[in-house]
Amino acid sequence: MNALKNSFKITLKNSLTMMAIASSLSLVAQTPTEKTLTVYSARNEQLIKPLFDAYTKETGVKIQFLTDKEGPLLQKLKAEGVNSPADLLLTVDAGNLWLAEHEGVLASIQSPVLEKNIPKHLRSPKNSWFGLSVRARTIFYNKDLVKPADLTTYEDLAGAKFAKKLCLRTSQKVYNQSLVAMLISHHGEKKAESIVKGWVSNLKTEVFPDDTKLLEAIDLGLCEVGIANTYYYGRLLEKNPKLKVGIFWPNQKNTGVHVNVSGVGVVTHSKNKEEAIKFIEWMSSEKGQNFFADVNLEFPVNKNVKSHELVQTWGAFKQDMLNVSKAGELQSAAVKLMDKVQYK
Ligand code: FE
Repeated sequence: MNALKNSFKITLKNSLTMMAIASSLSLVAQTPTEKTLTVYSARNEQLIKPLFDAYTKETGVKIQFLTDKEGPLLQKLKAEGVNSPADLLLTVDAGNLWLAEHEGVLASIQSPVLEKNIPKHLRSPKNSWFGLSVRARTIFYNKDLVKPADLTTYEDLAGAKFAKKLCLRTSQKVYNQSLVAMLISHHGEKKAESIVKGWVSNLKTEVFPDDTKLLEAIDLGLCEVGIANTYYYGRLLEKNPKLKVGIFWPNQKNTGVHVNVSGVGVVTHSKNKEEAIKFIEWMSSEKGQNFFADVNLEFPVNKNVKSHELVQTWGAFKQDMLNVSKAGELQSAAVKLMDKVQYK
């Protein structure tokens, strides 16, 4: 820009040249910038590509990305250190975001826009990561076998009423580790342990490898109730609107529904921090939010943005307002607890 200013000054004496320069300046302003951001993403290509393309179209900023599982991406960032080409890390679950922060690969950033657009409980207390969509982990039931009036809380699923009726996904999955971490945060380890122990003794089947298989088992009546993330339910409903699975929002009179996030942080050694922050701000804005949330039937974090039509049909619910970073802080305690009660 200085070079441009200098050339402008030099040619002021000559008005014709000045006009030529002025028109070339406006050309410069109209040409898309050649700025590029590099994103490491644990969210898969089909979920992020439309969002990246929309941002490039609007701003001219090109986005390169690499997708992998969260573990290898974190190791890669650590190994690359100061030489990393990455500007942003995009991943799911606050447990993973917390770990990335803990390992020092995410920078603490200041942005009044992000503070305004993203509720406090859905971003890092250290400003190093920001939730961009909410994923609710809630209770599902077979409509022929269970009345919603019989359901109340996550804790209640541990009671004798649900003996041999409950199905769960494996404890190996971070989603359940985060859920149990939140139980520990609310009740302390001792009570959380008795709740999870109750769940395990109420199991109808072996634990499931994923939420989709669990929901399909509820549909078939193999399980009466279970816990899963809502977007898996949404995907099944899109394929089969007659699914015999109902959705229930638990703990509405106390702690609220367990929520988690899919989120992002600026990489510590990014050379484009300002551009990276602008991109996160855009993703948190009304424009970016629907791209981010709707493609996976998740909930927007920004309160001014409406959910996808299908998601809206599930009704409003009260969220657990505990900061989701607790999922990371208490993750190892949760894993130990689940191991102790033989939740596989
Ligand atoms: Fe998932």
